[in-house]
Parts: sequence; C-alpha cells; structure tokens
Amino acid sequence: MADTPILLWFRNDLRLHDHEPLQRALKQKTAIAPVYCFDPRHFGKTPYGFPKTGAFRAQFLLESVADLRASLQKRGSDLIVRVGKPEEVVPAIARDLGATAVYFHEEATAEEIAVEERLIQALKDQGTAHQSFWGATLYAPDDLPFGTDEIPEVFTQFRKRVESQSDVRSPFASPKALPALGAIALGELPTLADLGLEPPSPDKRGVLAFRGGETAGLARLQHYFWQSDRLSVYKETRNGMLGADYSSKFSPWLALGCLSPRYIHDQVLTYEDDRTANDSTYWLIFELLWRDYFRFICLKHGNQIFRAAGLQGVEIPWKEDWPRFELWTRGETGFPLVDANMRELAATGFMSNRGRQNVASFLTKNLGIHWHMGAEWFESLLIDYDVCSNWGNWNYTAGVGNDARGFRFFNILKQSKDYDPDGRYVKHWLPELADVPGAKVHEPWKLQPVEQKRFNLRLGVDYPNPVVDLFKSAQENEKVYNAAVSRHAPPRPKTKRR
Ligand SMILES: Cc1cc2nc3c(=O)[nH]c(=O)nc-3n(C[C@H](O)[C@H](O)[C@H](O)COP(=O)(O)OP(=O)(O)OC[C@H]3O[C@@H](n4cnc5c(N)ncnc54)[C@H](O)[C@@H]3O)c2cc1C
Repeated sequence: MADTPILLWFRNDLRLHDHEPLQRALKQKTAIAPVYCFDPRHFGKTPYGFPKTGAFRAQFLLESVADLRASLQKRGSDLIVRVGKPEEVVPAIARDLGATAVYFHEEATAEEIAVEERLIQALKDQGTAHQSFWGATLYAPDDLPFGTDEIPEVFTQFRKRVESQSDVRSPFASPKALPALGAIALGELPTLADLGLEPPSPDKRGVLAFRGGETAGLARLQHYFWQSDRLSVYKETRNGMLGADYSSKFSPWLALGCLSPRYIHDQVLTYEDDRTANDSTYWLIFELLWRDYFRFICLKHGNQIFRAAGLQGVEIPWKEDWPRFELWTRGETGFPLVDANMRELAATGFMSNRGRQNVASFLTKNLGIHWHMGAEWFESLLIDYDVCSNWGNWNYTAGVGNDARGFRFFNILKQSKDYDPDGRYVKHWLPELADVPGAKVHEPWKLQPVEQKRFNLRLGVDYPNPVVDLFKSAQENEKVYNAAVSRHAPPRPKTKRR
C-alpha cells in the first residue's frame, strides 16, 4: 500500500452503493483497506440451543462476502477476510498496516454495540482513530423529528411524524475505482464446514433461489421494479404465499446490507416519475418504515425487546412444551396453513409475512408456548434474519409489544380461506393433501372415513389430527393473558440476554 490506509470494517453493510464510510474514506485521498471478519460467536447456539446462524443464512452470507470481494477487485481493491472476534482482529490489522483510522457502520442492538465499544477501546489504546456512521435505515437518526428517547411507541404515530417532518437522504453512488490494496495476506473465506454447518439442499418448491450479494440484490430490484413492473401491484399481491413476485423478497439483501433502503427509496421515486405512482409504490416505502421503526425502537429501549415480558412488561407464564414445539417446527400441528408455512421455512429458510404472522400467533396464542422459542427458531432458520425486525415482530405477535391492543389472535381457518382459498399453497408444501378438494383441504379433521379413502388420506397416519382445538385453546390462553395484564406493569428490569 502506497501510504497508511483507512481501514474499512464491513459488517451488515455488504455493498458498495450508498456506503458512507467508503465515500468518506475516498474523500481523504488515502489508501483504503476493506476488511470483513467472520465472528465465531455468530455460529454458536441460541439460549434454547438452536444454531444461531443456520445453513441457509450462512450460505447467503458467504455468497455476499464473496460478491463484495469480487466487486472490490473489479474496482482495483480487494477484501481482507479473517475469522475471529472483530474487536481483536480489526485493531490488529489496523496496527499491522499502520492505519490512520477505522471507519464502520453502527448497529442498533446490544451484542453488536458491545463489540463496537470493545473495538473502539482497543483502537484508543493503540492510538488509532475511528469514525462510525449510520446507514441501516431510510431515515437517519439525526433527521428524525424527535430524539431517540422520544421515539413514539406506536408505529402510526412514528410514521405520520416522520413522513410529514423528515426527508430521506439521497443515496451515495457506487465508486467506479478504488485505490489498490498493498501487500497483505488477504485470507480465504471459510467454508460452511469450517463454520460447523452442512450445505443446505436447495428445494425447487421455494419462492426464489436466493443468492447472496449486492449484485444479486440489485438484479432482484431491477426485476421487481423495472422488468416485471410488479411494484405497481405490490399492495394487492403482498399478502400472497406462492411464487417469487407476490412481494419484493428484498429482505435477505436488506438484512446483510447488500441493498440499501435509501437506494430502494430512490428507485421507487424514479419509478413513480417514469412509470406510475400509486398506492402500491407508496406501500413498499410504508413497509420499509416498519423496518425503520423496529430499529429505532431497539435504539430507544435497548435490551427490553429481548426480555420475556417484552416491551410492554407483561409477565405471561409461557410454556416450554417441547413436544408441541417440535410439532410446530416440523409442520405437524394438524393445521395445514401452519404446517405448510413451517415446512417451507425448514426447507428454504424463507416464509411470507402472512405465514410468519399466522405461525407466530398459533405458537403463542393457541399453544401458549414461550415466544422466545419461536423467535430463536426464526433467528436460526430465516435467511433474512434481522435482529430488530425479528424480535420486534415477535413482541407484537406474542402480545407483549409496546402497541398493546389486548389479546389478538389470528383465526387460522379464516386466514386460510382468505389467503389460500383454493388450497394451492398448502398442497404445494403438504403433498399428502394433494387429492383433497380445495374447499375441504384446510379442515382435514372433518373428512369422513369414506372421504379420506377417496382423497388418499389417512388422518392420524398420513397427516396428523389437530394438536389443539383452535378456539378453545385461544380462549384458555386469552384468560392467562388477561390475568397477566391485570397483574401487569412491573418496573422494567435489565435482562441478561444480549
Ligand atoms: C414473527 C415475524 C418475524 C419476522 N422476522 C423478520 C426478520 O427476521 N427479518 C425481516 O427482514 N423481516 C422479518 N419479518 C417481517 C416480514 O415478514 C419480512 O420482512 C417480509 O416477509 C420479507 O419479505 P419481502 O422482502 O418480500 O417483504 P415485502 O412485503 O416486499 O416488504 C418490503 C420490505 O419491507 C420490510 N418489511 C415488510 N414487512 C415488515 C415488518 N412486518 N417488519 C419489519 N420490516 C418489514 C422488509 O425489509 C421487506 O423486505 C418478520 C415478521 C414476523 C411476523
């Protein structure tokens, strides 16, 4: 390297477009040393013992880092890759290279902030400067109409104030060329086996063959907005469950920062100018605001989002019923909508938003099982796992979120009929129900023996009987919930988790 570099520490920002630390480093007209560090702690176990990063997400991450390296190489630079704790690895590389400073993007939750703090301390101890930036949301914290402590608890209030009083900044363009990286061992990317994981087997029934990386993320946006025009009908199709294009599928790329929300916003504005502006084009931004909201709520409340009593502080006596939990994870509850979604998740690492709401409601409101078990299962399996969106949404569906509206549960049967009226989705994932007519497929327990014979289905053998009575179980859990709410509102203690 010609002169002492600025070290660029990549985290959940695996892209070159709209990357402020990279742009600021380029302005310094110095050498730049990009680094990515695989943190072994991300490949440990969750408190309930599931792999913290399952194979689908690990593969997506490896592809994303490989793509980042290729993009850096195309522009004349490269990526230094290491396995280790970033708070140890990054300062050591900075010292070896004589870096003047380390630039990076900030995160919002405690584990990630703790790493940042230890890293900053190590840099201070050795006399290396640092600068951190915010780049994960549509709106920058500095542009919000309220301070972090005053962020409205209710989404609609947050949204209305932000929409009327703040602007989304324009994204930074991708650099065309980068300064060369000098002599340093670049390091190989680990394999899945190095991370203690088996390669996931692709399942053709999945909504999309997700591929990690900025290149694939940008291509997905090109397809969804410009080639297929699906953005113009997003609001009508977004509650679907089958096929690639009922929704944007941007979430895995957003979670690792391969796509910047500000870039998506900018593309929506261009689309509205060039093609059409309607409820659907607005609605995609509306959904991205939910993502912003959960991230800012995490900033405001810190660890409270992870405690069992949730943001609201309701101490519900949740069950740790492992046999029933396992029926849920394997998709064997006897409720086809729940089972199809859970099997999709297990087979592909993805599930629609409609599916997530239903299975989370079923786990917590019908089975009464600890929402942490569900949230950790999602954390393990989801290809798009995002700490704020996952734990924030689970707070809501478990009824412990800050937007308390009493015991609200999803009526799985009504949902099935509304969102899968002809049973195509459930048959897609539950081949044992293939011959059952669409009108009967959501309630297989009602099939008479003669019908079971006709539809090639033996209840209790090919497909399970329902694990609970849908309405009775909801009533029982509602009583438990209401009793907890009436005891309610203990002071908010600090949790040990994260
Ligand atoms: C229990 C539960 C857990 C969830 N866990 C995650 C998670 O770990 N990671 C994650 O990205 N999303 C999570 N979601 C939110 C939502 O289900 C996914 O973002 C969405 O299904 C991803 O598909 P898409 O990109 O096609 O979404 P689209 O419908 O195309 O939406 C566009 C983008 O808006 C954002 N978005 C949409 N809905 C939500 C929402 N409810 N909350 C926050 N952001 C939203 C996402 O970034 C999404 O990519 C969860 C929802 C529930 C109910």
